[in-house]
Amino acid sequence: MTILEVRDAVRSRARSAVDVCRDALARIDTSNPQLNAFNTVVADRALARAEAIDAEPDRWRDAPLAGVPVAVKDNLCTRGVRTTASSRMLEHYVPPYDATVVARLERAGAVIVGKTNCDEFAMGSSNENSAFGPVRNPWALDRIPGGTSGGSAAAVAAGLTPMALGSDTGGSIRQPAALCGVVGLKPTYGRVSRYGLIAHASSLDQIGPLTRTVHDAALTLGVLAGPDAADATSAAEPVPDYTEALTGDVRDARIGIPRALLEGIDGEVSRAMMAALDVLHARGATLVDVELPHAKYATPVYYLVSTAEASSNLARYDGVRYGFRASPEPGTRNQTLQSMYAQTRAHGFGPEVKRRIMLGTYVLSAGYYDAYYLKAQQVRTLILRDYDQAFAHVDVVAMPTSPTPAVRIGERISDPVQMYLMDVFTVSANLSGLPAISVPCGFSSGRLPIGLQLMGRRFDEATLLRVADAYERDTTWSKQPPPLLTSSR
Ligand code: GLN
Repeated sequence: MTILEVRDAVRSRARSAVDVCRDALARIDTSNPQLNAFNTVVADRALARAEAIDAEPDRWRDAPLAGVPVAVKDNLCTRGVRTTASSRMLEHYVPPYDATVVARLERAGAVIVGKTNCDEFAMGSSNENSAFGPVRNPWALDRIPGGTSGGSAAAVAAGLTPMALGSDTGGSIRQPAALCGVVGLKPTYGRVSRYGLIAHASSLDQIGPLTRTVHDAALTLGVLAGPDAADATSAAEPVPDYTEALTGDVRDARIGIPRALLEGIDGEVSRAMMAALDVLHARGATLVDVELPHAKYATPVYYLVSTAEASSNLARYDGVRYGFRASPEPGTRNQTLQSMYAQTRAHGFGPEVKRRIMLGTYVLSAGYYDAYYLKAQQVRTLILRDYDQAFAHVDVVAMPTSPTPAVRIGERISDPVQMYLMDVFTVSANLSGLPAISVPCGFSSGRLPIGLQLMGRRFDEATLLRVADAYERDTTWSKQPPPLLTSSR
């Protein structure tokens, strides 16, 4: 079911919030052993919340998410509920406060049922970097769900909850949405408060929804968006009614296609994308070629900027202030402060996080800063200018979300460079702060979902959502459920 269907049923009292919540918890019970989409399920807390909603129908009658069960990525702080970022470092960390997005969801009537698995500290493209094991793709249990919000994507794709929150530093909402056949929206940098998001790379991180429909994404963005005194990077820009923008009319829309960037991608992905653009063209949109000459450098630029910021953000996990602290090695009588730091970080972080701390520290170090970090920031500006120039002529830019459908678990994990190249189409939106959405646009011959990515102007999520929704109206991809999950697999 969609958010809209659930909340209308709860608001009209056709169903109780408790009933809806029990159903979601039962589905999680059945499917999670196979999917590993949840790190934590908070059944009692969720049922108590649902009961409170049922007890006060008047109070929740107009609530946009009344009684809707939702899941939250495990790098978003939830007061009193373990928040791990899928790391041993935070395995037992219980935050004393809620992320702003968590508070806003609950204020809108949502019922949080659990915390979803992800790559450790949101670093990865496959969800294989979780300290709690990989998430499995509901469309093929031997495949990755995409990363890093893989648990959120799998939960929505498998129908466990109609919406799950993710975070996107270089594609982590859009790429798993594409590989699991759901909608994923990364809002403009600053559109949604990051207060309470465990930071990965602060100039790139944004929070957004994964949903079954574009309408549900618009509805959720309306709940999440807007300034927050607790996050100085949140924007004061007014929040329109995003659902009202979904008119189905794209006759005025100009869609840019960066053809040079698309050379050499998987044939099935490129055919699905071109067929999707034909659908929009048939609805009256104009297709225009655009040039993004620096977009080909986006992946190396991203991995310099993001690792530099991550190495700084992760310095706080030192065994003193948060989470895990290594005990002295057996036989050592006096643990020094230095050895406590070193052992805590050696045991608390997984291999990919360590690789990035090393790389990020290196690119920021005296002697290499100019050659790597500064150069990357300069190219970042060129990438941003390319997009600004393109958006002088077009309203959205279209490209695939992922260069390939979901690969097998284990296929890429030993080759970090191959893994990083999976982000080629998603990182530009983060480097330039632009909003972007992934919508299902077909299947491979092996019946794996393919996603179409649309990027928009800064703070113009309304146009992005309108075009994506118009496309969705003429297609049935998102209405097809994944093959039944069976206990034999
Ligand atoms: N795949 C990218 C990375 O590994 C993006 C991650 C994200 O968006 N959190 O950094």
